[in-house]
Amino acid sequence: MALDPLPTLHRIFGFPDFRGVQRQVVDRVLAGERTLAVMPTGAGKSLTYQLPSAMLDGTCVVVSPLIALMHDQLRAAEAVGLRAATLTSVDENRAETRGRFLDGQLDLLYIAPERASGGDFRDLLQRGRVAMFAIDEAHCVSEWGHDFRPDYRLLRPLLDLFPDVPRLALTATADAHTRDDILDQLGIPREGMIVAGFDRPNIRYTIGARDNTTRQLVDLIRATPGPGIVYAQTRAATEKLAAALAVTGRPTRAYHAGLDPAVRARNQADFVRSEDMVIAATVAFGMGIDKPDVRFVAHAGLPKSIEAYYQETGRAGRDGDPAVAHLFWGAEDFARARQRIGEVEAARQPGERARLQSLAALVETAGCRRAILLRHFGEHPPERCGNCDNCLNPPKAMDATQVARKYLSAVFRTGQMFGATYVEQVLTGKSSERSLMNGHEALSVWNIVGEEELALLKPVGRALLLRDALRTNAHGGLEFGPGARAILKGEAEVALLEPPPRARRSRSKAGE
Ligand code: ADP
Ligand code: ZN
Repeated sequence: MALDPLPTLHRIFGFPDFRGVQRQVVDRVLAGERTLAVMPTGAGKSLTYQLPSAMLDGTCVVVSPLIALMHDQLRAAEAVGLRAATLTSVDENRAETRGRFLDGQLDLLYIAPERASGGDFRDLLQRGRVAMFAIDEAHCVSEWGHDFRPDYRLLRPLLDLFPDVPRLALTATADAHTRDDILDQLGIPREGMIVAGFDRPNIRYTIGARDNTTRQLVDLIRATPGPGIVYAQTRAATEKLAAALAVTGRPTRAYHAGLDPAVRARNQADFVRSEDMVIAATVAFGMGIDKPDVRFVAHAGLPKSIEAYYQETGRAGRDGDPAVAHLFWGAEDFARARQRIGEVEAARQPGERARLQSLAALVETAGCRRAILLRHFGEHPPERCGNCDNCLNPPKAMDATQVARKYLSAVFRTGQMFGATYVEQVLTGKSSERSLMNGHEALSVWNIVGEEELALLKPVGRALLLRDALRTNAHGGLEFGPGARAILKGEAEVALLEPPPRARRSRSKAGE
């Protein structure tokens, strides 16, 4: 007879019903089958193993990559009355936990992958009773994933020692390639994959070039009441922003891994409680935080991948009310990302490059942002969503091929060694000691960009970097990338998106 999970859902979690694919996943687990659940952040993945852990005989072993996350999950599980423990290097009660497991006194046992693959742990499991395995953040098992962790590869032998114990792999972030890899690596059959819908219709996506980050963020914050997260690239930037954004009159905090743990914990707790706080954070912030009323997530620089962007923006509007996701990017973000790719091991470079290309497509598109996101996750969304910047305010494409060719010529004629500022000075004929000394004022490209093209120069420079027609060398000088030739030879065009009229600020009159 099939087990009915509903009474347990009501009794332990107090939820009237399952959400989305939760029921499907739970039913498979209870039937003893192997499953990969691909569910976006906030969709309620934890419930899909916590609930069976309360129903099945024995302990659910949860493999989880981050100790901090594990402790959050432990607290959440204990809060609903589940018997749970973590087995990590920072836990001093490890002997007691082993005892509880062996006595059958644990519903959930959280463990890090490096420990899970060890002989001690294997012996422990063989002496007790394992009800199921849950492998959280399962994309870590794949080299295609954006977060490969070699320790995850060592899980398979452990799982295979328990062939009849159901295994449930969970991830929020997996493109088709990564999903296939997870199935292979963890021995899950194809029909065991359950994918939830990724759309977050209440989030409005907006993506634009960065000019003055602080001013742009201040505008955004003033237009968006409620709590918000600003993601910055560096620890220093989070602190600078937290200070600068205080002019909005909203409480602001910084959050990054370098802060004193007590300060960090307090800032996080303050944010979770607040109804109007802005927290400037590195991407370390947000994992394991359950705050449904975040009204905006802003990126002050390019995220690591589409997956990361989706996950980070997904922290907005979990309550279903309107929320905005705003990404401010700069050409130097792409240049830096390419540089970093050049530094990783050769085998990983193609994957990294493809990831960056997907991001470039999202940033550069004149089409629907949501459609690009959802297609990335294997869905077939409509052409237009009606709730992103490009759907609400369709940009007009403008041909900038001429200016792009002038730009590339100037880079070439000056020897592919000068930065954007200098190249632009040459193109606009701004005489300086440097240009005189270099003899560049005699070049054919000197002063060939007229008044009417002036406004296009910077966007063109950005577009050329973005499509890898230009690259930045280690000293900030511009040089040709593989995309340059086709543009110079007239085989490729460069279209710019006309900047849509700046959205009017909806500041209240009283606040002026
Ligand atoms: P994920 O791990 O997928 O990001 P969580 O497991 O943290 O998501 O769950 C997100 C939120 O949704 C939590 O606050 C959780 O209590 C809530 N939740 C999960 N399942 C349900 C449900 N069936 N009904 C209502 N709320 C739910
Ligand atoms: Zn759209």
